[in-house]
Amino acid sequence: MINDGFKIRYENLDLIKDLQQANIDAQIASETKSEFLANMSHEIRTPMTGILGFVEQLAKKENDPERLRQFNIITKSGQTLLSIINDILDLSKIESGKMTLEPQPTDLHKLFDDTITLFDELIKSKNIDLHKEIDEKLPKCLIIDQLRFKQVILNLLSNAIKFTPSGGSISLQASYDHTTQILQCAVQDTGLGIGKEHLEKIFHAFAQEDTSTTRRYGGTGLGLTISSKLLHMMKGQIHVQSTLGEGSRFYLDVPVVSCKETDLFIDENLLDEKRVGNLVLKGHVLVVDDQEFNQMLLGTVLKQYGVTYDSANDGVDAVSLYRQNSYDAIFMDENMPNMNGIEATRQIRSIEEEHARTRTPIIAVTANALSYDKQRFLDAGMDEYISKPYTEEAVLNVLKHYLHNSKS
Ligand code: ADP
Repeated sequence: MINDGFKIRYENLDLIKDLQQANIDAQIASETKSEFLANMSHEIRTPMTGILGFVEQLAKKENDPERLRQFNIITKSGQTLLSIINDILDLSKIESGKMTLEPQPTDLHKLFDDTITLFDELIKSKNIDLHKEIDEKLPKCLIIDQLRFKQVILNLLSNAIKFTPSGGSISLQASYDHTTQILQCAVQDTGLGIGKEHLEKIFHAFAQEDTSTTRRYGGTGLGLTISSKLLHMMKGQIHVQSTLGEGSRFYLDVPVVSCKETDLFIDENLLDEKRVGNLVLKGHVLVVDDQEFNQMLLGTVLKQYGVTYDSANDGVDAVSLYRQNSYDAIFMDENMPNMNGIEATRQIRSIEEEHARTRTPIIAVTANALSYDKQRFLDAGMDEYISKPYTEEAVLNVLKHYLHNSKS
């Protein structure tokens, strides 16, 4: 009897050990998968820069309406592909624990307006009434990760518009409880609604109400998963109420503290996102990138606005060119063989110091598009960053800060 007892105890211990090991293995496998997905999506973004960038340039010179329509299709398809890649990148970052939040003073009134503006055309074309119901007491300044919160609202609005037929209506609601310090938001639509049996499922990765959804409406089924995980990271949550054929209401609550209006940081770059018009800039810059097509693409944009440039294939090249010449700005790729952009920047900054040279603005050009990477670039001595794939406008908005506008 006693022997049997010992045997069972040891067998149980073995079993527990096996289970613990299996758990560790599964976790490692899951992290490896997430890391692989994150790397792959990063790799895919780079060639997309070449595709979207050159299509933009070619379309500018095209007058034939049929060809313009085709360029438009390439651009739209590229952008769709990119948003799928971004979703995969986000989800893998969250799942591998590499996503961090960046809470900062945020004007939610502006955030809602900016987000709605993105859908102006779509709403008009579908004749949808999209209105806001924002509580007057919603503070002007709240501390929240604005990029990620905007991503959640964007996803909810985008779904509401996608699944609401022409002539329907959508409302975006928000209120703030000053006692509990909880922000509540909701997006309500008069659209297709979701069947009861699917309600829980839609927050799971790749889940759509039924498989024909992808064919009819597009999408990856990742948006709500990412939104719910992001809110979870913010200690908030998201729920849904829906009736098939009548509409849906997605509502969320998230704890946030308020701040003083004076804490709001006005990003001049964002204010200046409008068309650049017939801007002529003056200057000589250095373009550092190991991919020739990227040098060419940036060069094509620069030349059009009167900016001349030298190119370097890696960090070593860049540092040596910098020793011999002076530049008004340097566009620095991050990942390059021989010497990466971060190291090259460090060396350039130390040459500047050693020889008391004027500080040259260095703009990181990176496929690591996440906002919190910005700090890493700033710490390395860079001044700004643009993410790949970039548009002509993004390049110019940055350049305008650093080069002289000789005529406009
Ligand atoms: P995607 O929209 O890319 O498919 P989401 O995770 O954002 O992925 O949404 C998952 C699914 O939830 C959608 O495919 C759809 O079936 C359902 N859904 C989401 N929002 C709505 C909505 N407002 N009305 C009806 N169905 C919705």
